[in-house]
Amino acid sequence: MSKNLSSNEVDREPVTLATGLEAFQSSPEFSGPVEDLDGHDCNDHFAHIYESREEKFEAAVPFVRHGLERGEQIAYVVDQSTESDVRTALRTAGIDIDAALDSGALTFYTVDETYLRDGSFDSHEMIQFYADATAEATEDFEALRLVAEMSWIKDDETTVEQLMEYESQINDLFDREDVLAICQYDRELFAPEVIQNVIKTHPHLIYDGAACHNFYYTPPEELFGDDAPVRENERMLQTLHERTTAKTELQQRERFLEDLYDATADSDRSFEAKIRRLLKLGTERFNLDIGYFTQTTGDEMFEIVEAVGDHEQIAAGVTDSLGDTYCEKLLAAPGRIAVTDAAEAGWTTDPAYKRFGLDAYFATTVHVGGEEYGTLCFASETPREEPYTDADRTYLDLMGQWVEYELEQQRREAYLRESYRITSDPTLDFDEKLQALFELGCEQFGLELGVMAEVDSGEDRLEIEYVSTDHEHLKPGLELSLSETYCSGAVDSSGVVSVANPVEAGYDDLRIHREFGIEAYLGTSIEVEGDANRTFFFVSEEPRDHGFSDDEHTFQRLLGQWVRYELEHQQREAFLRESYQITADPNLDFDAKLEQLLDLGREWMGLDAAGLTHLPSWEDKFLSEYTVGYGDDAADESDEFWTDPGEGCYCRQAIESDEPVGMADVRGTEWEDDQIHQEHGLTCYLGTKVMNGSTPYGTLWIGSTDPRDREFTETERTFLELIGQWVSYEIERSQREQALKESNKRLEQFAYAASHDLQEPLRMVSSYLQLIERRYSDALDEDGEEYLEFAVNGADRMREMISGLLAYSRVETRGDPFEPVELGTVLNDVLEDLHLQIEGTDAKIAVEDLPCVEGDSNQLRQLFQNLLENAITYSGDSAPHIHIDAKRRKQKWVISVHDNGIGIDPENQDRIFDIFDRLHSRDEYDGTGLGLALCQRIVERHNGEMWVESEPDEGSTFSFTLPAT
Ligand code: ADP
Repeated sequence: MSKNLSSNEVDREPVTLATGLEAFQSSPEFSGPVEDLDGHDCNDHFAHIYESREEKFEAAVPFVRHGLERGEQIAYVVDQSTESDVRTALRTAGIDIDAALDSGALTFYTVDETYLRDGSFDSHEMIQFYADATAEATEDFEALRLVAEMSWIKDDETTVEQLMEYESQINDLFDREDVLAICQYDRELFAPEVIQNVIKTHPHLIYDGAACHNFYYTPPEELFGDDAPVRENERMLQTLHERTTAKTELQQRERFLEDLYDATADSDRSFEAKIRRLLKLGTERFNLDIGYFTQTTGDEMFEIVEAVGDHEQIAAGVTDSLGDTYCEKLLAAPGRIAVTDAAEAGWTTDPAYKRFGLDAYFATTVHVGGEEYGTLCFASETPREEPYTDADRTYLDLMGQWVEYELEQQRREAYLRESYRITSDPTLDFDEKLQALFELGCEQFGLELGVMAEVDSGEDRLEIEYVSTDHEHLKPGLELSLSETYCSGAVDSSGVVSVANPVEAGYDDLRIHREFGIEAYLGTSIEVEGDANRTFFFVSEEPRDHGFSDDEHTFQRLLGQWVRYELEHQQREAFLRESYQITADPNLDFDAKLEQLLDLGREWMGLDAAGLTHLPSWEDKFLSEYTVGYGDDAADESDEFWTDPGEGCYCRQAIESDEPVGMADVRGTEWEDDQIHQEHGLTCYLGTKVMNGSTPYGTLWIGSTDPRDREFTETERTFLELIGQWVSYEIERSQREQALKESNKRLEQFAYAASHDLQEPLRMVSSYLQLIERRYSDALDEDGEEYLEFAVNGADRMREMISGLLAYSRVETRGDPFEPVELGTVLNDVLEDLHLQIEGTDAKIAVEDLPCVEGDSNQLRQLFQNLLENAITYSGDSAPHIHIDAKRRKQKWVISVHDNGIGIDPENQDRIFDIFDRLHSRDEYDGTGLGLALCQRIVERHNGEMWVESEPDEGSTFSFTLPAT
């Protein structure tokens, strides 16, 4: 209703009792009445009985506010209160009373201006006053609304009879005119008899926060006529009767709710079983023979999901065409249909009547997610005698609502289960998951196409990345300006946005509508950390006949979250993969790896600068070892670049903390005063400490001179921490390697010196011994010859030892680069070399399939040779039986050489790998004690381990591991 239209020019809804109740319902302080208004003897006149000032205004204030909002004129008759008291109460409630007074919408009156205009109360005068005031008010306003304090009655001579006469007249008047009134009575002020009369003469009472239908109401003419007592008795009896029926009705309703609850609450019972109970309940309640629940299945067909009662054509599982059914009528005008007698309703000529023969029909439509689902029907082949009551209708509606709720719940659950199943399926890759989620969404929303697009709202750009099915226009790679699409709303609000009717929503001019014919849209924006923003939406060229429901919005939001989760997951994986590739690349040195890792981090976090600092023990400041993206001269400045530690922020905090330390924007924090910000302008910083073993080494950081608008995320911190750990490990490793290299070098130098320097005098010893042997052997007696032989042997042995030591020292430094080696081939060569020994000892050697490994073939050959020689040498009395096999253990091969020889006491098993250590004298077994030491060193160079398992006289098994290719 518009305030500007004059009342005479338009047909207006007159103000009614309902209008007044609406006023009270608009206020949280009020409750009731609960029953329908119709059938009650009523007019637009309320009596308010109150006991305190608060109570008085609790009713008056919402009544006034509601009237003003509706453009009515308020006449407020002040008597017990002062005008300023009323003003305060209205103003406190937020009513702009100055405006209302100025416009004439609110006027205050005294009793002398109204009820007691002529000095005393005259009901005819008063009626006239109302009629005039109403006529006047409705010239410019919607209606007249009256608030009147009735305290004046107490001091006036007005008799109860007069008042009653007046009441009956105004009740009449109020029924006809656009006037609504509330008369306020202070319970404390009046005698109980007066209050009793007020109660009897007002059909509607407001008391203690409730608006009540007044059962005690007696029309005034009845109250004071000649046969008043008779009438009153009748009224009292009737009131009693009404109360009882009302109570019974209420009980019935409660019982029904209980039944409904009983039928549906059991979680073990299936949905179908619950529906059957519900249908049974309905047939009993409505006194109809048949109950059935249908689902429409497209193509004008329906299926009966469940049915109770006897009817040839109506049974669970039946599918049929919707044409010529009552349900067709029902679905054409969704809601409820109530027919007690087909003949009366003129339905007997209907083909549907002929088809099913139903005389009574009571049914409602069922909608799920805003879309038509089917019908819930009760029917009989005979007419129903009683009309359907309000309660019957309520029952039917409640049943329909329960079914709708239940189906929606089922749909929600199925949907969640399905999306969970998709995202947690380990056999699907990212694209497959995305496609499956898109398909799920299309089906759920009844839309044709799912799209994911990258957006840049600053640049007003949208680029399609992914579509679920081919589309004429929307293809991957298509660029649009964001504002030409429906997506801008979703991006702006970062919530779910839907468009069901572009024309109505004022979007008909958008390119997406105009050129591409997209008529329906449901979309949401996705923010993925460290990545471009996206929108994720469903569209259709078919217009939608209904808007998108709350459920659909929720589904879309959830889908968006799943997709975001997948994108983030994929991105994290991609970063980890990329960092792994960098660190594992054998062609990159440490500096190149560090540079690439920091580039990756900078790109991901959207920051310009990064670096590695070192805090040497002899310095008091951090030195920059590597800096990138931080002004051109950062590298030159390196030494002075970093501040002394006294300031306590940035790298100082990072090196002292166990976790990465970050500040997206240092401005306004204590970091702002730090020299790094003051002099070098670093405003955004994330740093982590780098360790060298157990000593702090320095920091690794990523930052920028510009502040960043979002805080560092957990993933970003973890990422930097991981690179920090890698750097720590590399620093420690390079130091360890350096140390190892140096010791190897020293060993080699020693061995070289030994071989070189010792071999020379040794050669001299040997040649002179040979000379003595040649020239003076005749002069020597038996002992002399034996001594000479010892001396020659000793020299030979020494040469062997020296060259063995040389070989041992060169394992690390003079090895060949690793390459795939077929162990089978290597072993065959060794067996060939050893064939004399093998034949000489009658050795039996069994070799199983040997793998291909990564290694140095010469060294591996040496390894096998030493082990086989030992196995033959230490075979004891019987002929050697040797068995060689290989077993896979994760990334490694375990190669074992088993023999049946003399075995080794467990106590000595560690010693045998030591250089020059042996368990036997040369008389027993010849050897230098270098063979196994060399084997172990070769295995170690191949990142493997070596060990022996043996018992004396039980044979030995020497095993070693080698990395699998
Ligand atoms: P060498 O054989 O030159 O003495 P090694 O380093 O090859 O030196 O072996 C060290 C010691 O380990 C040997 O002296 C021997 O006592 C013991 N040993 C090595 N191989 C075996 C084996 N297959 N069975 C029993 N003892 C062995």
